[in-house]
Amino acid sequence: MLNINEIRKQFPVLDQQVYGKPLVYLDNAATTQKPLCVIERERDYYLYENCNIHRGVHYLSQKATEAYEHARQTVADFIHAKEAREIIFTRGTTESLNLLATSFEHFLLSTLNSQLTTDSKLSTDGEPVEPLNSQLKVLVTSMEHHSNLVPWQQMVQRHHGQLLVVPMDDKGVLDLEQFEKLLKEGPKVVSIAHISNVLGTINPVKEMIAMAHQYGIPVVVDGAQSIAHHPIDVQDLDCDFFVFSGHKMYAPMGIGGLYGKAEWLEKLPPYQFGGEMVDTVSFEKTTFNVLPYKFEAGTPNVGAALGLETAVQFLQKLDRKEVEKHESQLLQSAIEKLSDIDGIRFIGEAEHRSGLVSFIIDGIHPYDLGTIIDKMGVAVRTGHHCAEPVMTRFGIPGTVRASFALYNTMEEVEVFVNAVKKAAMMLR
Ligand code: PLP
Repeated sequence: MLNINEIRKQFPVLDQQVYGKPLVYLDNAATTQKPLCVIERERDYYLYENCNIHRGVHYLSQKATEAYEHARQTVADFIHAKEAREIIFTRGTTESLNLLATSFEHFLLSTLNSQLTTDSKLSTDGEPVEPLNSQLKVLVTSMEHHSNLVPWQQMVQRHHGQLLVVPMDDKGVLDLEQFEKLLKEGPKVVSIAHISNVLGTINPVKEMIAMAHQYGIPVVVDGAQSIAHHPIDVQDLDCDFFVFSGHKMYAPMGIGGLYGKAEWLEKLPPYQFGGEMVDTVSFEKTTFNVLPYKFEAGTPNVGAALGLETAVQFLQKLDRKEVEKHESQLLQSAIEKLSDIDGIRFIGEAEHRSGLVSFIIDGIHPYDLGTIIDKMGVAVRTGHHCAEPVMTRFGIPGTVRASFALYNTMEEVEVFVNAVKKAAMMLR
């Protein structure tokens, strides 16, 4: 059993009043709060260990380098990567996805161009072959966060390629038959959310990865909403890439990761250029460093990486199954209690879902509802949650979203639901 009271003591930020009411923090899908151990780890780094890494021969530099590389190993173990060099530290999910979209852009174009020089430009019947750039297709789903949509969209649009989109049903469940059909259209990359940040749907990524691999297509999993809440095993999933943000898993802001299978990371070209990622440099030519440094140009956020390691260790000390169970109970209780509100419509009703609930209430703008319950101490998120196409799909301007973390309690669910009920009465 989780001892929630003990856990909450590690999160001083939760123990405060806003507008004279105890804070009920239910905006965990946006960012989680940080436990004392994480804050102290980052602080201690700056108090006693701060140094630039990899380059110094002196004591502090070596100590900081060791600590940074230890953090990489801890993250690798946490998601069961085969090797630490398969973990690239980034600023977070968004940067990881931009890295992949940019790197794949260069990789795919050079592959397609080399085909152009070797393949005949004319088909056997003398007609020009399909322009190679039109083969530049990327497959995403209709429930992606903008971070897993815009980088790919911009990448294909720069080359007159195409973004293929897997549709979903009214409950927020992906259509796997359509997914299979779209795979046959020959996307070069598939990039899918593990868990939707709007709908809470847990996508069947393992099955989707196996399907994509039958067509030889690599798969990126956006794990921004899954890593804090469910155990992740990248080898079991067999994903080619897995991206995540530290700040959504109790770690500091400004740090996150990109896992990639070594054979893919070896093939892909670097994303940013500068110090650290090079091997030799002359005015004529540069050769690049080995993994993972090839993808880590410039001075990294060492303090935050150590904070991320501590957040991982914090999670590892807990029974993750109990965490899943606790968050699922919070969710079930919230859904049950909200259900008797007149005119409520849940957005996202998949059978397999994670700890967040999105909804609208007839005749009430989500923003108004969010503003009123904020005055009652309840922090939820309102709006399109950086997933405008999801709003368009459901024909709504936005939702109210409450998202749970391991430190939330049943009492908080009660306070939240009562606040929503009260606000709905006031706004009608
Ligand atoms: N992907 C998903 C599913 C998300 O929920 C988020 C953030 O909410 C992101 C990507 C972007 O994460 P970040 O802003 O930490 O880069």
